Amino acid sequence: MSETINNCFDSHTHFLGTGQVALELSLRDLKSASNVSELKIEPHHHRGEWLVGFGWNHNNWVPSDLPHKSILDKVFPDKPVFFSRVDGHSSWINSKAIEVLKQKGFDFSKDPQGGKVLRDLNGEPIGILQDQAHINALLMLPDYSDQQLSQFLVRSGEIFNAGGFTHLRDMSMTFRQWQLQKALCEQQKLKIYCEGFITVESVKDLDRGLSEYQKCLDSPCAQLKVKGLKIFIDGSLGSKTAYLSQNYVGENQHGLLIWSATAIKATIAYCWRNKMEVAIHCIGDEAVHTVAQCAREVSAAGLLGKIHIEHAQLLRPETIPLLKPLHVYVHMQPCHWLSDHPWLQDCIGDLTKYLFQWEALRKNRIHVDFGSDSPIEPTNLLLTRKALLESAKSIPKPSEDWKRFHAYPTSGWGQCQTEFDDQGIIAINFEGETIRFR
Ligand SMILES: [Zn+2]
Repeated sequence: MSETINNCFDSHTHFLGTGQVALELSLRDLKSASNVSELKIEPHHHRGEWLVGFGWNHNNWVPSDLPHKSILDKVFPDKPVFFSRVDGHSSWINSKAIEVLKQKGFDFSKDPQGGKVLRDLNGEPIGILQDQAHINALLMLPDYSDQQLSQFLVRSGEIFNAGGFTHLRDMSMTFRQWQLQKALCEQQKLKIYCEGFITVESVKDLDRGLSEYQKCLDSPCAQLKVKGLKIFIDGSLGSKTAYLSQNYVGENQHGLLIWSATAIKATIAYCWRNKMEVAIHCIGDEAVHTVAQCAREVSAAGLLGKIHIEHAQLLRPETIPLLKPLHVYVHMQPCHWLSDHPWLQDCIGDLTKYLFQWEALRKNRIHVDFGSDSPIEPTNLLLTRKALLESAKSIPKPSEDWKRFHAYPTSGWGQCQTEFDDQGIIAINFEGETIRFR
C-alpha cells in the first residue's frame, strides 16, 4: 500500500553541490593511476581551461603508491589537470597545472603552514598537494561558468525530486546561486521550493553574509526564501574533530571547537539583531551544549530570534532543558546512522548512548526535522525509514509518525505531494503536475 507526504522536505542539504557531485568527472572507479587514459572527458568536467575530477583513492590501486604527475602528463600534456582525492584533502596535478599555478604565484619550493607539496630528491614537485597546499591551489582555479552552475542546479532538482522531495533547506546559498536558481524557477526548470542559509567563515565575515542575505531578499522568487546565516563550530566524528565532552577512544583529544564562545554569542546576537535566523553546525555533545549556553545568554540579554542546530549527532540529557525555552529547530540526518554506526563505538566509546536523541527532543516538544546532508549522503526519503528501522535496537524510534519529520513545517508555501511505498518513490505532484518514477 502506498503512503503520502505533503510538501516533502529535506531539511539539510547542499543543493548546488548535489548536482555538481553527480555531474563531475568521477575518479572513484580507477583501478590504477594509468587508468586515467580511459576516462571519458566531457565539456562540463572543466573549470575554464582546467580539467577537474574527484574521487581517486590510491589505497585501492595496484600498485598502491601515490601517483606521479608524469602519468597525467602522458595523457594530458597540454591542459592543466586537478584531480582531488576521495577525502577532499589532497590533489594530483600535472606539469601544465604546476606551470599555470606558478604563474599565479603558487610556491612549489616550500610547504605552506598546515600543508605539504610533495617533492622528489631533486626538489621537483611530483604532482601531489596535501591539505593546505591542496586548498590553496584549489582556490586558484577558475570559477564554474553560470551555464555550468545552472546545469548543476537542474540536475540537483531532478535528484531531489527522484528522492521524493519538493521542499528543501540549502545550507550553502550564495547570491550568485540565488539568481541562477530564480531564473530556472521562472523558466519552470526546477520543481523545488528552497530555503537558503548563507555560510560565513568568521565574525569578520558577518557583514558580507548580511549583504548577501539582503541582496537575496531584494530579488524575490516564489520558490525561494532566504532565512539567515550558517556557521560551523566543530568538525565531524569520522575525522575525530567533532567537539566531545570526553576524549576519542585511544586518543588524548576530544575534538575541536572552531569558534570561541564569545564569537558564537556575537554571531547569534548579530543575526537576531538583523532579523535573520542563525544555523549552527554542531555534531559533538559538547558543541551542542556550548551553543545552547551561548544562545541562552544572548536571549537573557533581551535579544530574540530563531536558532537552528544542524546535525546534533550527540546530545546529552542536560542540554535539552537549555534548548527548550529557545526558539529552536534541530535538524537531524538519520541516514548518517546507516553509514556511521559500524565504526562509532570504536570512535566515541560510551558516548554512543547520546546518539541521535530525536525521541528525547520530540518528547520535550523541541522541533525536529529530518534531512540527508546531500551530497554527503544520498537524498532519499526511504533511507530515513530504513535508518529508523535499523537503529531502533539501540536508539528509541520517534513515537510519532516519522513522516511528520519530513513535512515542510509551515503551511502555505507550495501545494505538493509525494507518493511512495516499500519499493521506493512512486510519484511527486508539484503544483498540479505529476512526475512518475515508476
Ligand atoms: Zn551540511
